Amino acid sequence: MEVERLSVLYRGPLSSCNYGCPYCPFAKHTETAAEHEHDRLALDRFVAWVQAQPYRVSVFFTPWGEALVRPRYQQALVALSRAPNVEQVAIQTNLSGPLAWTADAERGKLGLWATYHPGEVTPGRFLERTAELERAGVRYSVGMVGEKRSLEAIEAMRAALPPHVYLWVNAFKVGEGYYSAGDLARLRAVDPLFELNTRRYRVRGQPCGAGETVVSVEGDGTARRCHFIERPLGNVYQQDIRDLLRPRVCSRSGCECHIGYVHLPELRAAEVFGDGLLARIPDPRAWADPARFRALLERGRALGAPPATPDDLKTPATPR
Ligand code: SF4
Ligand code: SF4
Repeated sequence: MEVERLSVLYRGPLSSCNYGCPYCPFAKHTETAAEHEHDRLALDRFVAWVQAQPYRVSVFFTPWGEALVRPRYQQALVALSRAPNVEQVAIQTNLSGPLAWTADAERGKLGLWATYHPGEVTPGRFLERTAELERAGVRYSVGMVGEKRSLEAIEAMRAALPPHVYLWVNAFKVGEGYYSAGDLARLRAVDPLFELNTRRYRVRGQPCGAGETVVSVEGDGTARRCHFIERPLGNVYQQDIRDLLRPRVCSRSGCECHIGYVHLPELRAAEVFGDGLLARIPDPRAWADPARFRALLERGRALGAPPATPDDLKTPATPR
């Protein structure tokens, strides 16, 4: 298939984290030196592969843990941001690692998906880190898990962040009835798009950009449409990925994570997020035009069903 641009979600072998969030189903591992080396080699190979692609690429690191505390990932973001064919490079992070490396990056291409975990770090410490990003001119979004017991912390974080920074809240998906109407009103006041994340999109048979305009790649080069569909498309180190891409419909019954549903063409999420789609950073022009947010919520209502069962709603990606 002819390709002008492609988004690639990369998830290497790394699966450790310096935090221990109780709601996190992954990152329970401690790597050995050999496993770190394996992850480093996979990362180097992936960076070289991206740099060699003859089309525009946006990269989003979605590790099974915290990668940005590792210098090798900081250097990978720097290298990719400086690659002429790379448009955006983003990463999911808890923002606990050093940020001095951003000075070496092409900062206009960087986007950090920074999740604040109230049980793991003080608000003051987290806000010091976001202030560093402000000073460095790095774009970021801040996210929190919408546990009811965190409502006050969520509102306090919203009040403390600069107004131009988007604070998104991931719905704590443990079944219907978890939130009262009052809770929902408070969460919507913090995150104007909160409702979008409460839905489980009915996607079976629906067109989705995953496998056409976006793919997920693992450390060994295995390419999948997205993180949620196991069946591989192929391997980017053995095949030209352009031969693996084509328009497709989804084979799953539901899709409920930002990193998945934003690629549903009917949602037209880019009308709000622009080139900040991967790092969940709305386009500044969308903030100036609330009608765009309302229109996105409307499209979400048309596509999404309310939460079905707790099992439907518990997915490993929920905390992030
Ligand atoms: S949710 Fe994120 S920060 Fe928390 S333990 Fe899991 S990977 Fe680490
Ligand atoms: S709708 Fe979700 S699960 Fe289906 S292909 Fe797209 S991203 Fe994957």
